[in-house]
Amino acid sequence: MNQQIQIVNVDFVKQANGALVYRLIDQLGPISRIQVSEMSGLAAASVTKITRNLLRLGLIKEVAQQQSTGGRRATSIVAERQNFVCLLIRLGRTSVTIAAMNLATEVLFKRKYQLQTEQTVEQLEQYLLEHIRRSLSELQQNDYQIIACGITVPGFVDQKSNTIRFMPQLNLQKPWKLAESIQQLIQLPVFIGHDVRALALAESYFGKTRETSDSLLLRIHRGVAAGIILNRELFSGSKNNLGEIGHTQVDPLGKRCKCGNFGCLETLVSNQAIEDSVRELLQQGHHCDGVTLQNCNLDTICAAVNQGDPLLVELFQRLGKYIGQVLAVCINVLNPEKIILSGQITQAKQVLFPAIEKALQAMALSDFVQNTALEASELAHDDIIGAFALIKRALWNGELLVQLLED
Ligand SMILES: [Zn+2]
Repeated sequence: MNQQIQIVNVDFVKQANGALVYRLIDQLGPISRIQVSEMSGLAAASVTKITRNLLRLGLIKEVAQQQSTGGRRATSIVAERQNFVCLLIRLGRTSVTIAAMNLATEVLFKRKYQLQTEQTVEQLEQYLLEHIRRSLSELQQNDYQIIACGITVPGFVDQKSNTIRFMPQLNLQKPWKLAESIQQLIQLPVFIGHDVRALALAESYFGKTRETSDSLLLRIHRGVAAGIILNRELFSGSKNNLGEIGHTQVDPLGKRCKCGNFGCLETLVSNQAIEDSVRELLQQGHHCDGVTLQNCNLDTICAAVNQGDPLLVELFQRLGKYIGQVLAVCINVLNPEKIILSGQITQAKQVLFPAIEKALQAMALSDFVQNTALEASELAHDDIIGAFALIKRALWNGELLVQLLED
């Protein structure tokens, strides 16, 4: 019994040390082994052993670096990012995106397929597996080294069993083992997560919360939800699911939400809700500059807001107040350093953000509000970067690294 525990601990320490060394090289390289040893607190011999394994895998490479003092060249190490490729899948409510991205975040291909409505889970799974199989063989023909697959879904994912418990467009009778089916097909590690939570993780790795310890990302798209980063880690909680602030009631007399309640934030500020509101205004005979019933989409609406269309400016000020009302509670609970807003709606941030800030000042603790920056996400590839972040996390915490070293 005792021996078993000891073995597990040794493996865990090995995994943690390997991950620490890789992460330092990935984030700070070119870096020398001595610097890695100093920064990690690991003995030089351990660093040498770990880097030998990473070199064998090709995940890092040696580069000669000129010393600034002149004279002898010192050997530094950097992470090798170009050769390693991740297969990324974003399963949405109406479409699926399948892409390949290397560790340097360069997209090799990205394809979007519309999903049929009224599909059973089994039909959808077969459809996905077929497209994944095709994408994989295309990558293999081009000699890429594929290391893992990342999937994000707009549903509840149980991280312990790697299963999907709830998907908005599907009637799941039992947990959906999609990750397991993909793993069996491609024979590679598969990481699955909620799309907005994964996006918050991506923002903390590659975006505006990189230097931030505690932050919240509010995603406004088809749905409205948040991802929370605490102490630089994605906060999941013991129930795995949290951040569903889009289902907070802000208008008791509002429309019925798909969750069953009335007047949730999502029924007012989601892309569809905004487009519907503007369409209603137009149908009533109101005039909005540049927006017609034919081109009534969020892009043209935001453009009209930015041009100062009085009716739409007023609408967006009201939307800002609703968003601020919900974010005020988040600020009081979490006291984050930054709140990031993600989605097309941020195109109209010059009107929207002052309205949100005004609501925050009126509704949250002023000390907390003063120290919380509100910014718009500028992450590229916001459809697939979350799935990539799940893989990056597994490399940085050693989970994936261990699997690669075992092969
Ligand atoms: Zn709701």
